[in-house]
Amino acid sequence: AAKEEGRNAYRFFTPPMHQQAKSRLLLANDLRQALADGQLQIWLQPIVDLSTGRVCKAEALLRWQHPVHGMVPPGQFIPIAEETGIIVELGNWIFRQAAAAARQWLEQGDGAPCQVSVNVSPRQFVSDTLVDTCLAALRELDVPPHSMVIEITEGLLLTDRADIVDKLARLRSAGMQLALDDFGTGYSAMAYLKKFNIDYLKVDRSFVRDLDADPSDKAIAEAIIVMAHKLGLKTIAEGVETVAQRDLLALVGCDMVQGYLYARPMPVAEFLASLRSEGAAVAA
Ligand code: C2E
Ligand code: MG
Ligand code: MG
Ligand code: MG
Repeated sequence: AAKEEGRNAYRFFTPPMHQQAKSRLLLANDLRQALADGQLQIWLQPIVDLSTGRVCKAEALLRWQHPVHGMVPPGQFIPIAEETGIIVELGNWIFRQAAAAARQWLEQGDGAPCQVSVNVSPRQFVSDTLVDTCLAALRELDVPPHSMVIEITEGLLLTDRADIVDKLARLRSAGMQLALDDFGTGYSAMAYLKKFNIDYLKVDRSFVRDLDADPSDKAIAEAIIVMAHKLGLKTIAEGVETVAQRDLLALVGCDMVQGYLYARPMPVAEFLASLRSEGAAVAA
């Protein structure tokens, strides 16, 4: 009885820290199962070229429909996938799904440029099979490498690990393009932009949010865009929600925009259907 009581007492006084660790562990186990059970999907969010007004790229964003917890946001489980190493297998799967989406887009498209952009976390770059696995998927699915953009974060570029530098160079020399995600939130060291042959710079949402109200955010966004252009990179602004933000970004020369103003991330089939009706509207 004492034991019973002790256990109950323990449960009653479980500190939140412990509960958090436990739920993370459960989520890690669920994640392994999720991939096998088809609970994971990639969704696509359109990226619009400001000079043409047309969708030129789409970012693949992972979605997990958990049987108990419902939709779990990636911010909650990607870190767990990274810590546990599950991200390597998961990342290979994500890349393949994104490539398959690119294949479908190419097939229904009118030949206008289209690319699917995939987030690749630093942990995936530790894997020695990353580049070969990506290239094999593209070959199998008959997707030209220039249809894919790899989104990386600043932290990865701070490393001077020769193998990571080499993997980035191999992805790019195979024909894939590189985007630097969330620019401005990390170290924003300019030197590595030259060293690494980045194609796109994604201006972080935090500078876009108050663009029309905060003069210093406008100055930062403009400075990033001017600098990117001088280094030969194109710019994509994230989190564009209003016409005012879009117009200001256009004014300071931003090349592309992505955000709720245009569309939220959506299932691949829905994305492809929306492009078909956009095409029909243009033709009409
Ligand atoms: P991210 O790569 O910077 O992706 C952009 C995030 O901003 C997405 O959140 C997207 O839904 C959100 N977003 C887009 N437009 C707007 C807007 O106008 N307003 C607001 N408030 N938000 C907007 P999401 O899908 O929750 O993803 C969060 C992060 O999780 C991503 O940030 C990325 O770092 C990570 N992530 C998502 N999918 C993957 C994946 O397949 N692999 C890896 N390694 N990481 C992923
Ligand atoms: Mg991204
Ligand atoms: Mg981003
Ligand atoms: Mg982000």
